[in-house]
Amino acid sequence: MFLKPLPDKNMIMNITISGTEVSNVILDDLKEKIKKMDNKPKLVIVQVGDNPASETYVGMKLKRAKSIGMDAMLKKLPENAKEKELLDIVNELNHDKHVTGFIVQLPLPKHMNETTVINSIDPKKDVDGFTSTNIGNLVLGIPEENILLPATPAGIIKLLEYYKIPIKGKHAVVVGRSNIVGKPVASLLLNRSATVTICHSRTNNLAAHTKQADILVVAVGKPGIITADMVKDGAYVFDVGTSKVNGKLCGDVDFENIIKKAHCSPVPGGVGPMTVAMLLNNVVKTKMQ
Ligand code: NAP
Repeated sequence: MFLKPLPDKNMIMNITISGTEVSNVILDDLKEKIKKMDNKPKLVIVQVGDNPASETYVGMKLKRAKSIGMDAMLKKLPENAKEKELLDIVNELNHDKHVTGFIVQLPLPKHMNETTVINSIDPKKDVDGFTSTNIGNLVLGIPEENILLPATPAGIIKLLEYYKIPIKGKHAVVVGRSNIVGKPVASLLLNRSATVTICHSRTNNLAAHTKQADILVVAVGKPGIITADMVKDGAYVFDVGTSKVNGKLCGDVDFENIIKKAHCSPVPGGVGPMTVAMLLNNVVKTKMQ
């Protein structure tokens, strides 16, 4: 499935790491798998409130799910819903045998405790891979086929595999230590024997670390935080950041200049579409287990 050859080493050519292209390969494969199933897998998305970014992400996930023949539906609660109402819905979904997997779209309103809500999801239906059980198993190095991996980190690994980018023994630098991207992607890279450095807002001299990276993953949410002088020649840069600047979607890295010296994923069209594809991959994986 992932057979794209890298250009000859002597050619000066940097790759735009295309999540659009790779996600389409994954979605086509999932569509074929679903076609062969007697019952379609069913994804439910629970959304609380009307956060504009969540509206866009939820819409995209439902649209892509339906486009590959998956049954997908939204359960929406008002912003002022009580945490107990949400926990009751989670409990219902945990026990509904027609539901293959479900997610609670984050962020939740401030009066709700995200950890309590996420950990009330049955880990076997946790297709976002955010429960302590799934994250704990990832950190423990339990074989990945037996766990549900968080979608964005898993998508970055699929991109590395698709482009045949070596990981073992390489220095991977992850900027950002969130529970949904930074920490799990660091674990996935460590499980593949990269030497991993994790940077965050208290890191001294960020550039000194990023310049050493063979693989650089940036998940901060600050456009332009990584400039070309902070990147090693020939490095592979994965831009996870998504921010709106003057109505335009922007990543964290200076793609225009970095692509002149290294390989880089764009925003949009990089990690974003992989996140959706890997979420749907988790639903199909759950159905097949
Ligand atoms: P987050 O919870 O927003 O946290 C941001 C991280 O960046 C924190 O660990 C923070 O450090 C670190 N940080 C902040 N300023 C920094 C600085 N000056 N230098 C180094 N590190 C710094 O992280 P997230 O949820 O992973 O989101 C990060 C970005 O990715 C956002 O733009 C989000 O929208 C985007 N995102 C995109 C996708 C996708 O599918 N494309 C998926 C998920 C997230 P501290 O821990 O010290 O505060």
